[in-house]
Amino acid sequence: MKKTLMYSICLILLFFLPAKTADMIINTDIKKYEEERQWVIYTPEDTTPIEQVEEEEMVINNKETKTSTKNWWEYPDEIFTTTRSGDDMLVLVNKQYKLPSTYAPKDLVKASTSGIRRGENYYLRKILITDLTNLITDSKAAGIDLSIVSAYRSYQTQVSTYNYWLSKNDNDVALVDTFSARPGHSQHQLGTVIDFSSNEIGDRLGDEFGGTKASKWLVENAYKYGFVISFPKGYEHITGYKFESWHYRYIGQSYASEMINSGMILENYLKSKN
Ligand SMILES: [Zn+2]
Repeated sequence: MKKTLMYSICLILLFFLPAKTADMIINTDIKKYEEERQWVIYTPEDTTPIEQVEEEEMVINNKETKTSTKNWWEYPDEIFTTTRSGDDMLVLVNKQYKLPSTYAPKDLVKASTSGIRRGENYYLRKILITDLTNLITDSKAAGIDLSIVSAYRSYQTQVSTYNYWLSKNDNDVALVDTFSARPGHSQHQLGTVIDFSSNEIGDRLGDEFGGTKASKWLVENAYKYGFVISFPKGYEHITGYKFESWHYRYIGQSYASEMINSGMILENYLKSKN
């Protein structure tokens, strides 16, 4: 009985083991074949779309970097020289376009020749003096007092001006860039810009000018004499500067009227002309 059982077990082992071993070998071969097949067939197909997706994502990320990380007061990565001469009424001077350090107007005269108060120490281009004289005469007749607190500034003066504001603000570049132009980027270098004040605020320069009668009169009338506000309220993201109620640039009567009628701010008007 014991012998019969032993033979039976031996027979079973002899019969099944090789088959089982053969199955294992075949299974391993199939698995290996399938793995190789997968590697051969799928690997090239799979990696190509992955590369494409990664490329697309990189492009999207670059776009996002350019649009979302730039704050309105920051300068663009690329800075160009102005496309028009500094003498040109329509020259675009902003954070992207800078005047050559060598540019200076050749027809500067004392601002006081227009009759504006405090004009002895400031210089403006002669080309605007007639219109400014009329502006001062008419504003006085309307009971408005206007004075001048800044006008032409050379490239070198702007170096000092910008550095002065940096030193006054713990070298906070981001803060200073919201209100003071870096050398070459200032419209004051054109000799056609006036920073106005009034005896209403003790001839001081700054935000308080926006609340004066003088400011209200300029908002309504300055363009008739060729002067327009450069950095209007609510357009910081376009001009790159905070609202300056006192800073007017002369572009001449016909362009100023055209600009006002177009509804565009100076920055966009000049961009449309450059
Ligand atoms: Zn100014």
